[in-house]
Amino acid sequence: MILALAGGVGGARLARGLAAALAPEALTIIVNTGDDFEHLGLHVSPDIDTVMYTLAGLNNRQQGWGLAGESWAFMSALRRLGGATWFQLGDQDLATHVERTWRLKTQPLSAVTAEFCARLNVRHRVVPMTDDPVRTLVDTDEGRLAFQDYFVRRQSAPRFRAISLAGIEAARPHSALAAALADPALAAIVICPSNPVLSIRPILALPGITELLRRRRAPVVAVSPFIGGQAIKGPAAKIMHELGLPVSPAGLASFYGDLLDGLVIDRADAALAEGLAGPAIMATNTLMRDDADQERLARETLHFASRLH
Ligand code: GDP
Ligand code: CA
Repeated sequence: MILALAGGVGGARLARGLAAALAPEALTIIVNTGDDFEHLGLHVSPDIDTVMYTLAGLNNRQQGWGLAGESWAFMSALRRLGGATWFQLGDQDLATHVERTWRLKTQPLSAVTAEFCARLNVRHRVVPMTDDPVRTLVDTDEGRLAFQDYFVRRQSAPRFRAISLAGIEAARPHSALAAALADPALAAIVICPSNPVLSIRPILALPGITELLRRRRAPVVAVSPFIGGQAIKGPAAKIMHELGLPVSPAGLASFYGDLLDGLVIDRADAALAEGLAGPAIMATNTLMRDDADQERLARETLHFASRLH
């Protein structure tokens, strides 16, 4: 059994590769829900949807988020009415949020996610990190911002200081996460190449997870979201920099600390990892442009992890 921890785009890409390499019962993908928010009265779960759409093969590859073949009639009509247009909601995507919001009146998020995945022919388990509300707040030099205010409205421009996770103390990790961590059959924990601070930290910060991880027997392997000292997309590198950490294998090793047994980095960064104390290092091509890249990187990561066991 493999446990994968994922945020949105980078997480979804490796998750799709892992799903291509592993049987449905051999993989559980735990997804960050700190980015979830209420918008226009709807419950939006950006990272769950990115992972779900990507595993379903329905994602928009050019854009990097949302659905392929999307139309935007709803946004135009909303603009005409003076509604909030800073967060893009495609017509098909809107159906996900409306139906999710409606179902959440009687079901937990994980049940809604499981049903949507079944409908979209996603056979591997996609599980929100918790069914309880956790909201990522970003402390910046301009004060505290709600996650989407920082990420979408302000395009991550304010200087990052820290994240606060509202609701985290009362949040129960999803039982699939706790069960997987305690499962003797767990072969590896794969931290996807997601934003370490915004996407992975919220999962690790859930009550009890640190203790379960400390007692783990399975190795923890992270895949770096950085190539050549830069993020492929998004503010991960900017945030590392603003935290005073180098955008390098050493920076990641320092961020994840003794949690990491192995770190998969890009060949472009191999020289930066020379002599690095801490996790075992594997250098390969980590850019996932297509299905073949995703599956190859997933298989290489699993093979690397199996040697650390
Ligand atoms: P978000 O929630 O949509 O922002 O996505 P994630 O947190 O899951 O992932 C964002 C990170 O994914 C960025 O830091 C990117 O550098 C990384 N990323 C995106 N595509 C790739 C890829 O093909 N390979 C690697 N190694 N990282 C990627
Ligand atoms: Ca996200």
